[in-house]
Amino acid sequence: MPIQMLNEIEQEITRFLSDLIRINTTNPPGNETQAANFIAQYLAKDGFKPEIIESASGRGSVISRLKGSGEKPNLLLLSHLDVVAANPAEWTVDPFAGTVKEGYVYGRGAYDIKGMTAVEVLTLLLLKRNNIPLKGDVVLAATADEEKGGEEGAGYLLKHQKEKVWCPYVLNEGGGLAIPQKQGNVYPVQTAEKGILWFKIKAKGTPGHGSTPNTADNAIVRMNKVITKLGEYQPETMYVPTLRQFLSEVAKINPDLEASFSRLLGNPKQSEQILDELAKTNKALAEEIRPRTKTTITPTIIHGGVKENIIPSECEAVFDCRVLPGQSVDETFSLIKSLLKDVGMDKLSFEIIQMHDGNESTTQTPLYSTISGVLKEFEPNCGVTPTLTTGGTDSRFFRETGSVCYGFHPMRPDEPNDELEKRMHGIDERITIENLVFGTSIFYEAVKRFMT
Ligand SMILES: [Zn+2]
Repeated sequence: MPIQMLNEIEQEITRFLSDLIRINTTNPPGNETQAANFIAQYLAKDGFKPEIIESASGRGSVISRLKGSGEKPNLLLLSHLDVVAANPAEWTVDPFAGTVKEGYVYGRGAYDIKGMTAVEVLTLLLLKRNNIPLKGDVVLAATADEEKGGEEGAGYLLKHQKEKVWCPYVLNEGGGLAIPQKQGNVYPVQTAEKGILWFKIKAKGTPGHGSTPNTADNAIVRMNKVITKLGEYQPETMYVPTLRQFLSEVAKINPDLEASFSRLLGNPKQSEQILDELAKTNKALAEEIRPRTKTTITPTIIHGGVKENIIPSECEAVFDCRVLPGQSVDETFSLIKSLLKDVGMDKLSFEIIQMHDGNESTTQTPLYSTISGVLKEFEPNCGVTPTLTTGGTDSRFFRETGSVCYGFHPMRPDEPNDELEKRMHGIDERITIENLVFGTSIFYEAVKRFMT
């Protein structure tokens, strides 16, 4: 039977998302329990017995399970309840009113990621309402705290209530928005994330009078050397499996890119020059690929000095470093220190702000083939590709504990993709009702096929 658009859920999912947006879960402080309660009560009307687990007062996550026969591995439908702040003065609508107009649901979280929570809740409800004979459990978890790193949400659940939430397969945010290409849409499935190494360096010196620079040891000058050294560092290029597949899948759908992508694939050592060339005609794409081929180290904060005529004895800077899956953040940190040997290690001190390794799931699984099969059946000329994101999601907690985890919130662009990306965490965040129905139709079909 061809895949049906589930138009009959249009009103229900619109209402559900609008109501969920009206519960303000800006993190900090989060206050996700109220949203967790709303979802729990909603599911209870259909006979589910959801559970709310709080990591601290008000920091609730909701979990619900639909039992299967045990013949297949369990699947977790994951999303988060918290959102980032929104400044109402910048918006054309109240970001927490759940406004529905001109075919859109507006509000903070519509796109990241309450819209996906709605798709997952509707999927769970439809599996039950349609009496689908599941061969494994389908578990729903909408969690707290993702926007601040997830330790109080997904991280907490895996640490303290693992048996209730852990599944061998996980579907989460991070991918799914089609990228239009010459011969059709390419649907990305997020399979990998870079690791994070945020660190602070303090440079010390000796103070002195600004009019006699040689009598002092200027900490700003030392920090300048640090930034120059780290900026000149040319990390080795490495293509993780996800990037290799991305380059070959996108080239299949867009023959214009085939030449430069096959050169990239064949010559990892020349990737910088090839990307520089590509940037001349397609800067956005080149700069999207570049950080996915190597470690990046970016200075993001600097402080030093107190007065016009005092040579400062202290200067500190913060760096945002990202490593590829498979590279160790510990080893990267040691390497960074070794690069700075000549700057005077006795005058530098290092502090780690946050660190964790990258992660990657293979595409060689029945879940990936199911997702790909459903998309290609629905949209025969489309492509499907794994993607590596430079930022992270809660998927890392699950990949670190052995789950196969895919970022897949199916959507079709209803305005240019760069405009859409701006709305995420930006102004007038919104999602089309059409995308809510489309997303649920694809998502439901993929889950149903995978679990039966
Ligand atoms: Zn998110």
